[in-house]
Amino acid sequence: MATRHPRTFFHCYAAGEDPGVLLDPDEQVTAPWGEPEHGPCDKCEGEGTTVYECFSCVEAGSDPDCPACQGRVHFEQTCPTCQGSGEIRRTKRKGIAVFPAREGLYRYLAWKNDATVEDKVVVELTGELSDDIDLDADHGALLIFPRELVAVEPLDATAVRSIRDRTGEEEE
Ligand SMILES: [Zn+2]
Ligand SMILES: [Zn+2]
Repeated sequence: MATRHPRTFFHCYAAGEDPGVLLDPDEQVTAPWGEPEHGPCDKCEGEGTTVYECFSCVEAGSDPDCPACQGRVHFEQTCPTCQGSGEIRRTKRKGIAVFPAREGLYRYLAWKNDATVEDKVVVELTGELSDDIDLDADHGALLIFPRELVAVEPLDATAVRSIRDRTGEEEE
């Protein structure tokens, strides 16, 4: 019987810092970059649902086993930021933000207009899915409680920039 490798996930981390911190349960929370914003939801404009696009499957091809979209790639679902209420009340989420494919992480960093890609590494992790939802779940981000570091590799900033040239970034 072939050994089934556990699924791994990809997270962007500062080069030169210890990614072992990601394994500390006390550190396994995600907060938005920049100021936490509470108030009317700008993502869904109060509708409570939004269009999801799984960046991992957009870039790497639709995967029926994708834990973010189950191969659906594009679909409409409850807005992850306001969780359907139209009002952002909770910006701190349980778990570490990851993508199920390296390609998805790269696409996300290309899209995110305040992402810095210099001096970063990509950390490949195993872990359990959180029952919480990432603020950017509509782009295929997941939250996990990391269990094991599988690999740490330099982030290829040139690859991110070339995706950005191809697809553009989010609007301000
Ligand atoms: Zn919303
Ligand atoms: Zn997917």
